[in-house]
Amino acid sequence: MALDNLTLLFSLALISGLMAVSLAVTSRKGGRDGLRLWAIALALESLAWSLVALRGQLPLVVTMLFANLSLVSAQAVKLAAIHEFRGLRWPRLSFLLPLAAMLALMLVLEADDVRARIFCSSLVFAAQMALLARALYQDDTTRGGRAWWLIYGATLLLLLALFLRAAMALASAESFSTPLSQHAPNTVQLMVFVSVVALDLLGALGFILLVKERIERAVQRQAMTDGLTGIFNRRAFMERAERELAITRRKHQPLALLMLDIDHFKRINDTYGHAAGDAALVEISRLLGKRLRQQDTFGRYGGEEFCILLPDTDEQGALALAEALRQVVEATPLSIGKQQIGVTLSIGVGVCHAGCTVCAGEFSKLLNDADRALYQSKAQGRNRTVSLPLHCEAESATA
Ligand code: GH3
Ligand code: MG
Ligand code: MG
Repeated sequence: MALDNLTLLFSLALISGLMAVSLAVTSRKGGRDGLRLWAIALALESLAWSLVALRGQLPLVVTMLFANLSLVSAQAVKLAAIHEFRGLRWPRLSFLLPLAAMLALMLVLEADDVRARIFCSSLVFAAQMALLARALYQDDTTRGGRAWWLIYGATLLLLLALFLRAAMALASAESFSTPLSQHAPNTVQLMVFVSVVALDLLGALGFILLVKERIERAVQRQAMTDGLTGIFNRRAFMERAERELAITRRKHQPLALLMLDIDHFKRINDTYGHAAGDAALVEISRLLGKRLRQQDTFGRYGGEEFCILLPDTDEQGALALAEALRQVVEATPLSIGKQQIGVTLSIGVGVCHAGCTVCAGEFSKLLNDADRALYQSKAQGRNRTVSLPLHCEAESATA
């Protein structure tokens, strides 16, 4: 049994419609991620395919006008969806101009001048694809990812397919002379339709995956971040530290670790309240973070204790930075509400020398050194930096 165009068009309408409903139902309520707008775009496309299918039943001018307007609106809504996804305002001009252009074309061109209509409408759709591709390309938070390639690639291929459609309309009157809703299949139009819809569905899938990838990245970031200070939490810090140690060993570079503990922090809580204590933790992490290099890893190890990992830094460099950090905290009273609170830090320094074989990939040894040094710093009266003889000193002398 041959597949007639009517069945094909209704199938396309059904597929787009079902995708629109699934997307609308599964997207988050009030989520500003563009998924709901994309569902609206798919619903508009479903309406457009249904109208094309009804071409024989309703007056030609009406069906083609509304079908083309639905399709052009659908692409405009997709552009709005991408802008919403990127947290931008709707691009009014790029949204409305293609709609106005399509309306003008449909009113100006003769209803039976199928070639001119197909040629011009293809160019309008192609312009919309170019706008979509540009909006996608400008998003450097997702550009180059797998989902991004899926939607971007589908958009570029659609652009190409639409140019081909325009070119074919120009070149051959024959293949476009049969109305699409007639039962005799028209191979050229069928091919264009099927590829346009297939790429359209690929684009929808790409957009869904784009949103999903971003949610996953946000969840991952949340799992790695300390909720109060916004710096790495202990688990993320330890993971990074193990990785840095492995890189350090491979490159034969030194690696330093600072452990910092706020002095008499309990007093701050007791005197000014827990909320002030929290604010002090945030202020101190901000103060410290500002003075670190991009390659340094800064984490909250627990309570009022912080860790800083310094790649390619020897003992001298680590001591100098630790002192600078200690002094800046001592010299900067923290503004907590209306209060100015003075705090100090005790710092323990641990270093794994270049070529050290003792650490052997065990970060706990370095951690232990820094912790013992911190303990000494507290024992010696606080507000100071201490570095102890290192476990890998002997090895580094022979390295
Ligand atoms: P030391 O100089 O010996 O380090 O004294 P300290 O008071 O800083 O040390 P101690 O370990 O006795 O107390 C740490 C305090 O930090 C106790 C705890 O209530 C407080 N703390 C831990 N986490 C938080 C937090 O997230 N917010 C607030 N406000 N306080 C916290
Ligand atoms: Mg403390
Ligand atoms: Mg402590």
